[in-house]
Amino acid sequence: MQETSHETAREIPWSTLSQLRLFDRVDIDVVHHLLEECTLRELRPNETLIERDQENASLFLILEGVLRIHLDPNGPAIAKPAAGEAVGELSVLDKRKASATVIADCECLLLELDETLVWLMVHASHDFGRNLLILLSERIRSVNGVVDKSMQLQREYQVYATVDPLTGLYNRRWLNDALALEMTRCLSREQPFSVLMLDIDRFKKYNDRHGHLAGDTVLQAVAAAVRGTIRDQDMAVRFGGEEMLVLLPNADCEQATRVAERMADNVRHNPVRRQADETLPGVTASIGVTSMRGRETSRQLLERVDQALYRAKSSGRDRVVVD
Ligand code: GH3
Ligand code: MG
Ligand code: MG
Repeated sequence: MQETSHETAREIPWSTLSQLRLFDRVDIDVVHHLLEECTLRELRPNETLIERDQENASLFLILEGVLRIHLDPNGPAIAKPAAGEAVGELSVLDKRKASATVIADCECLLLELDETLVWLMVHASHDFGRNLLILLSERIRSVNGVVDKSMQLQREYQVYATVDPLTGLYNRRWLNDALALEMTRCLSREQPFSVLMLDIDRFKKYNDRHGHLAGDTVLQAVAAAVRGTIRDQDMAVRFGGEEMLVLLPNADCEQATRVAERMADNVRHNPVRRQADETLPGVTASIGVTSMRGRETSRQLLERVDQALYRAKSSGRDRVVVD
């Protein structure tokens, strides 16, 4: 069972109250009789005051202590209102269930105004009403800040989910959605669509000879050479360990072959720098090329480009073979 806050025998601290922002310019004498109807509550550290998605019909004014507001009770606090601030005003005003969980961060003393009292206070003092509106607009601003931040995080996570961290190329997961989409797009515009599949030659031997970390540096250098060869609208993907696939929208087989030849050349002559003063031996790559043939599946296209790559390997490597 969740413990709930309990009433206290303490007296309302009138002098503190008149200094709170919610009572700014409010004539305490005018609302004195209403405030006497309020309940004083004490909270122990980590005691829950309001639970998300539960009914709440009170505004709680913090007289002493600090509260924590959580969207997810197990997640981080999104705000920590302290003495002078209030919680619960949203559900009092819109009569909807609580939008967040509120927990005491330390011992707290709160003044509870139920819904009826809140409206009686607004009627009795326009200054109280105005202060309540200010409080509400501040809450909206701070929520906007949280939403902004979480959207920014979401964008970052999306990038992590679709980009290979070593090479900065798109990953296989991205390709799963993008390939069919690009094929359909080109088909509907009656444009050609081509792909290249590149595989580094004898890379296992390179790793064995120079170490895995040197191999990683080579992968980064080859990815840079691939990126440096293609146009803005082309897309490069790390397809597997040392295999890269390039999507070339609006490029026919001849254009794609020219890109592949240039790419093989750039890989061949690409210096592999581990540090400014240390150059590693270079590598070569084999590349297969194919183009979309009418309404076919992405799998058929990938099988054909893989066969072209296989032929580039079996006919001697460091070359381009067109399917
Ligand atoms: P081939 O010319 O026939 O392509 O020979 P290969 O040695 O390149 O081909 P194989 O498929 O036998 O070996 C691929 C190697 O790529 C094996 C693996 O050690 C290496 N590799 C795959 N991913 C990574 C990586 O992320 N970093 C490093 N350093 N090596 C990797
Ligand atoms: Mg391979
Ligand atoms: Mg290889």
